[in-house]
Amino acid sequence: MTIFSEDNGRYVDLHTHSTASDGSMTPAELVRHAYESGLSAVALTDHDTVAGVEEALEEGARTGIEVIAGVEISVSLSGWGMKFENEMHLLGYFFDGGYEPILTTLEELRRRREQRNPRVIEKLNEMGFDITMEEVAAKAPGDVVGRGHIAKVLMEKGYTASIDEGFERFLAAGKPAYVSKEKLTPEQGIAVILQSGGVPVLAHPVLMGLQREQLMVVLKRLKAAGLRGIEALYSENSPEQTREMLELAEKTGLRVTGGSDFHGSIKPDIKIGVGRGDLRVPECLLKILREA
Ligand SMILES: [Zn+2]
Ligand SMILES: [Zn+2]
Repeated sequence: MTIFSEDNGRYVDLHTHSTASDGSMTPAELVRHAYESGLSAVALTDHDTVAGVEEALEEGARTGIEVIAGVEISVSLSGWGMKFENEMHLLGYFFDGGYEPILTTLEELRRRREQRNPRVIEKLNEMGFDITMEEVAAKAPGDVVGRGHIAKVLMEKGYTASIDEGFERFLAAGKPAYVSKEKLTPEQGIAVILQSGGVPVLAHPVLMGLQREQLMVVLKRLKAAGLRGIEALYSENSPEQTREMLELAEKTGLRVTGGSDFHGSIKPDIKIGVGRGDLRVPECLLKILREA
C-alpha cells in the first residue's frame, strides 16, 4: 500500500483513553507513557469528553511529544432505516486546539446521560437492590459515569459475582434495568466535529460487524456528511481486515488513520502505539490527516 512508502520509522497513536473517560492513566501519565514508548505523536480521544485534553497538551509541551486534542463520540445508526441497528464511534481531531465549540454538545450529551444513570438506579431500587447514585459516581475517576460503574457497585455489594453478570442480568439492552441512550445521529456527530474545526474520522470500522457491501454504503453516506477518514489501522484488526479497510479507504477517497484504543490497565493486552504487538501507525498518516 502506498501509504507505507513514506514510513520514516517514526510512529504515532491516534486513539487513546485516559481517566477523563474509561482509561487507567491520567492524561499527563498517558502522554509521558507515549513519549517513553518512543512515539512521535499521540492523540487523546476520550469518550464524549475533552476534559483531559488541556492536561495532555501541557504535558506534551513539557516532554516534547506532539499531542493532538481529540475526542471519541458515540453516535447511533438506528435512524438510518438500514437492516442493522448499530452504535458507531466517531473520532474528532482538533489540530488547531480550538475544540471549545464541541463542549456545548458534549455538555448536552452528558446531561442526557446523567439523567439516564439515575433512571437505571431507580429501576434497580424498585427491584430491591440497595444502590445509590453517590456510590456509583464514587467509582468513576473522571467525569463520565456509566453502566460499568453501576455493575461494579452491584458486584462489590455482592449482588452479582462479576461485572459481566451485572450486564447480563440487569444492565444490557433488553434487561430489566436497561434505559436506552439518546444519541446523536452520525450526521450530527460529524457536523459538530466540523463546526468545532475538527477532522471527523470513523473509529474501528471492523468492530461494526458489517459486511463489506454494507460498510461501503455506510462509508459513502458518512463521506457525503463530511467524514474525512477511517481508522483502517487498529489493534483488533486481522491482517486481512486491515487490507480490506485500506482498500475501502482508497475506493471511497477517505484518509487512513490508525490507533491502538489504549485504555491502560483496563485493557492490559492493548499497548500504546503497538496494540497487540503488530500495530504501527506511520507518522505520515498524521500529516495527511492534518491537511484533510
Ligand atoms: Zn470506540
Ligand atoms: Zn476508543
